[in-house]
Amino acid sequence: MRISVIGCGYLGAVHASAMAELGHEVVGVDIDAAKVAELAAGRPPFFEPGLAEILTSATASGRLRFSTDIADAADAEVHFVAVGTPQSAGTNAADLSYVDAAFAALAPHLADGALVVGKSTVPVGTASRLAELLAAVAPQAEVAWNPEFLREGFAVRDTLEPDRLVYGVRDPGGDGRAASVLDRVYRAAIEAGAPRIVTDYATAELVKVAANAFLATKISFINAMAEIADVTGADVTALADAIGHDARIGRRFLNAGVGFGGGCLPKDIRAFTARAEELGRGESLAFLREVDAINLRQRQRVVDLAVAALGGQVHRKRIAVLGVTFKPESDDVRDSPALDVAVQLKGLGADVVATDPEGIENARARHPQLDYVSSTREALRGADLVVLVTEWREYRALDPVDSARLVAGRRIIDARNVLDAAAWRAAGWELRGIGRP
Ligand code: NAD
Repeated sequence: MRISVIGCGYLGAVHASAMAELGHEVVGVDIDAAKVAELAAGRPPFFEPGLAEILTSATASGRLRFSTDIADAADAEVHFVAVGTPQSAGTNAADLSYVDAAFAALAPHLADGALVVGKSTVPVGTASRLAELLAAVAPQAEVAWNPEFLREGFAVRDTLEPDRLVYGVRDPGGDGRAASVLDRVYRAAIEAGAPRIVTDYATAELVKVAANAFLATKISFINAMAEIADVTGADVTALADAIGHDARIGRRFLNAGVGFGGGCLPKDIRAFTARAEELGRGESLAFLREVDAINLRQRQRVVDLAVAALGGQVHRKRIAVLGVTFKPESDDVRDSPALDVAVQLKGLGADVVATDPEGIENARARHPQLDYVSSTREALRGADLVVLVTEWREYRALDPVDSARLVAGRRIIDARNVLDAAAWRAAGWELRGIGRP
């Protein structure tokens, strides 16, 4: 099929490459000329495992092109809109200006029978509003909303093998045209057994934000338990293991630590509460404010632990911060708890030396005041305190005996509860985790 993808960031670049990998003819359009140039040369403009392989092979085959000119999308039968929906400055609501601009730019180029498919995460009501606008200027086209559930770090696999497909369509009981077009796009996934849910616009929009609200709540729930564990001497990891054996609860997403971040969860739960308030149902989602507050408290908690580990004297102390991205296997530093902790410690007067396998460039662009080093050993050398904030594999695998030889003081905060505390203590380290004795 001929497909266009409007917006080629973390979502769109992967989606465009994956669609080409499935055999479709794809054009990716973005307003960022530098990004388009990189993508067109077959080079991912960000780190995502497996992306380079499919991007390079698809661009080389000619099945995947990139452009800054929306007119190049005119031939496509299906247009995926994957532009950003960040938090608006000064409010909790989503900034829909990019989505609105993309629909407006696309409208004059839509062929007869074209399907415009929203992938961006939007407040409920957006799809029907845009469908109405489009009906006025491009009645030959139809709108569907197909929320995306990919996880950064696993984005290629999640796009090629989605665990479910949700289609929000104008009339779920109608002719089924939009759904059958999307079925052709996703034939491989459907044949592999991916469940498919065809529903109305509002439900499809809500599925995405409800899923993120649930995941955020699960993380803040266990972090709240960690706060209680901290004052009672209980061990939140044992608690999570024990309650996680209950199949109704499950062990996944139940790891206490510095909390969630990134370009999705924080802004999505805020936008969801803002939308609920607009709809006169603010009280229904009031708990998400608490989820957000618990989450942000964990960053402060890690800073407090760091200050305490240094006996209250942080000024001019050398602190190695391991990890700056919001999660491992990504270079994404948007709303990263790790970077937040590093910046706060720097603000307290510490000599912060941060390191990360992939995120340094992005972190430096946002926070040039921090010192960055590319090697973990260099970060550890002479450190009075080590703070592990992003659980990259190489940090989880650090050897406590070897690391002890590099540092000036054997103190470590395990802000993700991933280290073998007994082994580190046996090597002479003072180790503090989150919600662990
Ligand atoms: P991003 O900032 O990485 O990418 C957005 C891209 O859109 C940028 O490259 C930007 O230049 C481009 N853009 C903006 N306006 C444009 C326009 N008018 N025409 C063409 N291109 C335009 O953001 P992202 O992480 O890819 O997220 C995109 C959307 O997908 C958001 O709504 C997000 O919530 C949602 N989402 C993201 C993920 C994820 O893991 N990143 C997962 C699921 C859903």
